[in-house]
Amino acid sequence: MNQVLKNHINQALSRLGYQITRIPQIEKNPQIVGNYSEGVFIICNFCGTLFRRTSGYHSESLDCPFCGSIARERVIYQSILYELNRRFGTSPLFINHAGELKNLRMLECSPRFNEQRRTILNKTLLQYMSSDLDQSGHPGEIQMDLTDFQDIEPNQNSLDIIICAHVLEHVPEYKKALHNLCLMLAPGGILILQVPILWNGYSIASETEFHADNTRVFHHFGFDLLFDLDFAFSDVKVVVGLLDFQITSPEIQPDKYRILLSNRERCIVLGDQRIRLFGLGIPDLCEAFIAYKK
Ligand SMILES: [Zn+2]
Repeated sequence: MNQVLKNHINQALSRLGYQITRIPQIEKNPQIVGNYSEGVFIICNFCGTLFRRTSGYHSESLDCPFCGSIARERVIYQSILYELNRRFGTSPLFINHAGELKNLRMLECSPRFNEQRRTILNKTLLQYMSSDLDQSGHPGEIQMDLTDFQDIEPNQNSLDIIICAHVLEHVPEYKKALHNLCLMLAPGGILILQVPILWNGYSIASETEFHADNTRVFHHFGFDLLFDLDFAFSDVKVVVGLLDFQITSPEIQPDKYRILLSNRERCIVLGDQRIRLFGLGIPDLCEAFIAYKK
């Protein structure tokens, strides 16, 4: 990368209180540090590593070579950073070392196993816990059935942030799970929810549908999930990559954003620049819900 640009980024980051992490083995990695002019240079909004895009733009790819975060996970982190900005009036660029998180408690439901992410969250937050239904595919510290009040009760009114990504489609009583997720939040807490949205509205999945990790899929969600969230939470916003654009993925219904077009005021649009800079994947699948508890 051009030295002038490198210096400029270093100065801008240090003004905001950040330092680009220099990891010896990563410095030798040819993936690190790309050419900005080619549009392949990505800043990981989780760990702060700069790396070069070598894979496609799919939301399950664009892995950060240091922390292992993938594009769709960085959409979640971008949503948390947005929320920190709204709550504290600051502009943290990365989750790693974000001082705004040091007094907050987070629960992550069935996360992808990643020791590096766990280490970073443990040192950045006041408390980080992960949970899983049966500790099989996605082992966590706590066994928790999101639809069982006995499992929820110990954490009632105690969590500031819950990340629940690609879980709800596997929960038969998903509305009960949403209600319980809200119960676990402390006043002012937020749920960052992500589900695959390929459809223009809700439908029940067929009995034979399973994901690669052998978990049954019960629901096909559309953005009308927004209205289910409205029943459980005091306010809900939708984070989307873009809103007015042509969907290109053949497996996604072309009118899936229709519901949002009449609810624009409830959308946070990340925009093309952020999508590219933070490697958030294709806009077709670049989304999350932020649900608030009063
Ligand atoms: Zn990273």
